Amino acid sequence: MTLRIGCIADDFTGGTDVAAAFRRAGLRTALVFGTPDDATVLPADCDAAVIALKSRSTPADEAVADSLTAQRWLWAKGAAQIYFKYCSTFDSTPHGNIGPVTDALMDAAGTATTLHCPASPPNGRTVYQGHLFVHDQLLSDSPLRHHPLNPMTDSALVRLLSAQTRHKVALIDWATVRRGVEAVREAVVTHQQSGVRHIVADALTDDDLAVLGAAALELPVVAGAAGLAEGFGHAYPATGPAAPEPLPREGRAAVLAGSCSARTLEQIAQFYASGLPSLHLDVLAAASGRDVIGEALVWYDGQDAGLPVLIYASASPEELAAVQAQLGVAEAAAQVEELLGTLASHLVERGVRRLLVAGGETSGAVTTALGVRAVLVGQEADPGVPWTYAATKTGDLALMLKSGNFGAPDLFTRTLAAPAEVAR
Ligand code: ADP
Repeated sequence: MTLRIGCIADDFTGGTDVAAAFRRAGLRTALVFGTPDDATVLPADCDAAVIALKSRSTPADEAVADSLTAQRWLWAKGAAQIYFKYCSTFDSTPHGNIGPVTDALMDAAGTATTLHCPASPPNGRTVYQGHLFVHDQLLSDSPLRHHPLNPMTDSALVRLLSAQTRHKVALIDWATVRRGVEAVREAVVTHQQSGVRHIVADALTDDDLAVLGAAALELPVVAGAAGLAEGFGHAYPATGPAAPEPLPREGRAAVLAGSCSARTLEQIAQFYASGLPSLHLDVLAAASGRDVIGEALVWYDGQDAGLPVLIYASASPEELAAVQAQLGVAEAAAQVEELLGTLASHLVERGVRRLLVAGGETSGAVTTALGVRAVLVGQEADPGVPWTYAATKTGDLALMLKSGNFGAPDLFTRTLAAPAEVAR
């Protein structure tokens, strides 16, 4: 059995999200963290492999180089098609990285056309007339306009992507998508003939994405969020049940949160309101040299081992602005990632075996600190939020890596408070 789909995701939780989508589509899926090398080993018999890069907010030339390395590695493993996964809220700047990376992957594959669709209907992301919606709001009216690294203040995808590529960008509208796979294929050919390189497609439902996925089966490079990946995965014939999952049934449970997204703030509030132990990290104090990690570990050691704990740096938009004004955006982010990565290592050493991490950048910092390179993708707790399983020096670890805005408000308590729930 060889690999069918090779996927490159532009951040760590995005990788988890898209890997879960391939698994839902019936594909046995591995998730690899960071640029793979000769020592990176995939679980046997994978249908799909997702390489989760940290290329969403890096300079465009670095993002391109890492993505091309991942593409070559996936091709060497036999991947027939490359799926470039970016955020369902199209997180990027006017300079990239979605346009430059897609162009580079297409050049390497020798292809002149690709299809884009960031829609992810289970998470409320839809595309209509080329405009990206987050539930009932345009992207530019949603809380994403306040994102700490990629504030999104425009919703028009053709315009957003045109700013990131020198090539032509055009739309396949919903009326065409509703007419089915053949209509979309014809529209792709028509766009191809008029020199369009990036085709953005509307999608409101999973059925629309199934149509787009089937229509994209012949394209060497396809780009979008997890929704299109699932449509794409369903277009491949199924290969049987996933491998058994090495769920740790013992050990402590913890949440580490670095996301400042609205949903993560709700999840933190819900955890706190449930009476479970939670600790806020003082980022400014850490930056001024106080031993915030040592204090957090003393606090952790004093908690009831039977209860999950939450340690968070996450801040409201006002608090975040204040910290960033004092430290600068990059230094503030570096402080938070250092704090949470180091704490993750200490917590696992102290016996945490179920670890939930909130935030894309934060998840990258945590897996790097733990030395976790690849995981098997397991069952989802909420759409786009699966448990994953990793072997570490200290034993099997269940990791949940959550994009800031993902998961229901009670995700933390529901998944961690009762081990029996996780074991189901
Ligand atoms: P999301 O998935 O919600 O985008 P990320 O972890 O990717 O979450 O990004 C959140 C960003 O906010 C990170 O760069 C993190 O370092 C930063 N951050 C979190 N808490 C604070 C804080 N208290 N002060 C300053 N920056 C913070």
